Amino acid sequence: MKKDIEIAQAATVAEINQIAAKIALSPADISPYSHDKAKLPLTTLNKLRQRPLGKLVLVTSINPTPAGEGKSTVTIGLADALNQLDQQAVIALREPSLGPVMGMKGGATGGGYAQVVPMADINLHFTGDMHALTAANNTLAALIDNHLHQGNQLQLDPKRIVWKRALDINDRALRETIIGLGKPANGQMRSDGFDITVASELMAILCLATDLTDLKARLNRILIGYTYDRQPVFVKDLGVAGALTVLLKDALQPNLVQTLEQTPAIIHGGPFANIAHGCNSILATEAALHAGQYAITEAGFGADLGAEKFLDIVTPQLPKAPDVIVVVATVRALKYNGGQALADLDQEDLTALEKGYANLQRHLQNMQKYGIPVVASINRFAQDTTAELDLLQNLISADGVASALTEVFAKGSQGGRDLAKLVMTASQQPANYQRLYQDDQSLTDKMTTIAQEIYGAQGIELTATAQRQLRLLKRQGWTNLPICIAKTQYSFSDQAKLLGAPSGFTLTIRDLIPKLGAGFIVALAGNILTMPGLPQHPAAEKIDIDAQGTITGLF
Ligand code: ADP
Repeated sequence: MKKDIEIAQAATVAEINQIAAKIALSPADISPYSHDKAKLPLTTLNKLRQRPLGKLVLVTSINPTPAGEGKSTVTIGLADALNQLDQQAVIALREPSLGPVMGMKGGATGGGYAQVVPMADINLHFTGDMHALTAANNTLAALIDNHLHQGNQLQLDPKRIVWKRALDINDRALRETIIGLGKPANGQMRSDGFDITVASELMAILCLATDLTDLKARLNRILIGYTYDRQPVFVKDLGVAGALTVLLKDALQPNLVQTLEQTPAIIHGGPFANIAHGCNSILATEAALHAGQYAITEAGFGADLGAEKFLDIVTPQLPKAPDVIVVVATVRALKYNGGQALADLDQEDLTALEKGYANLQRHLQNMQKYGIPVVASINRFAQDTTAELDLLQNLISADGVASALTEVFAKGSQGGRDLAKLVMTASQQPANYQRLYQDDQSLTDKMTTIAQEIYGAQGIELTATAQRQLRLLKRQGWTNLPICIAKTQYSFSDQAKLLGAPSGFTLTIRDLIPKLGAGFIVALAGNILTMPGLPQHPAAEKIDIDAQGTITGLF
């Protein structure tokens, strides 16, 4: 089979006006970025809001493994298949980060015959949203350092500044930095550090803001540090939220593109799900909900991270809760969870599959706790044997969950018809969405609830730093907020190597970070880092372009 990029390069791409027309938008309703991409202005979103709401489908998965799961692939293929069945489906997806594109995981535009295009553009600079976020983030950092240099009227303690710089690439060398070295004119010397842009608070804010006014209000609420006498200082004290809003005005507009089968796809915002909240923007999901009969969206990594955050942080801010949750699993990833070595995954291993099924089983049970119909999608890889696929279907069905074999990677929409029909049926069932916790519970209660109900932990333990932060959050009255846990994506636990469905462990909370503009408290669990590193052989080593501009190696 051809490589993803070869399939994408051979695609017949429609003019973006034609894609807009599919969701009854005129050329005047969109701001084109070349012939195959457009921004949806906020006035267009207001127009869309007048239309009725479609059904919301949330696609999530088992814990990721090096064997691949295929959430984006299934999300895209499912929407294409629904359209094939004369149901109007619109996709809402996250924007890729250069970190994984140049590093390890790859892009975020699907795979095989279920992709969004223009694939290379979307994976690289797209319409510049990521750069705008990085620029706005670092503008604020520069304004803070300038404030220190120009007399520090706010009496900000340089040792207590919490706003970090950002860059959208894995750069371990920038995790901790010293700035302001040299002459007095170079500013105050202090320690600083970088987060990857997709983990920054601005990314979360962009994804949760509902309009320019809300964006500005959230920017004003950002905590930048503390004074010498420990009083919090916010962006509003610096008076620069207007400038930051101006820098983000275009980035706030969702982007319209298409799938290989010309299904409209709205791609906007891209927080990672392990170190951030992992879901595309509220504006994109809302637009998709009003634009089609079905909005298909995806939450990052396993259902313990992205989906939990979608359901507990994002859903309360959406016009409606999901009508169906699709949990994607692969035979290979379950076998890996069941102990089969990566190098052996092409060999049939029913024992490892049955053992590894515990991972999918817990994710299915977890999602059922939210009161929403749950179905499973078995994303078929060419190497899966009939015996393995049968066993997996039987295991899922024994747990009372409906599943569909999904072959959208190999066959496009044709391979997603069963899943589409399953989703259509499930979306007619009554849903009774309930959150796992309420914001007015104590922070400890909320973290314990997620750890026990979703991760299978016996409880949580706070390090001395986390306990100190907890006291600070209580003193400041910043407790009535949802929790965004940052932890490894590979395990239900905070230890990457604990595969399957571990239980009885204690989740260690290392730090608690108030993100007041985003409106949640980040709880750092285990040794997760907010600036990842590149692997020994980064994907960048394989990426190239020829004299005609044809790109190779982009997966
Ligand atoms: P996720 O969204 O869960 O991270 P993606 O949909 O991005 O996963 O897929 C990850 C990688 O796996 C992509 O390179 C994609 O091409 C590949 N992939 C997905 N599904 C299949 C499949 N059924 N067969 C082969 N490769 C697949």
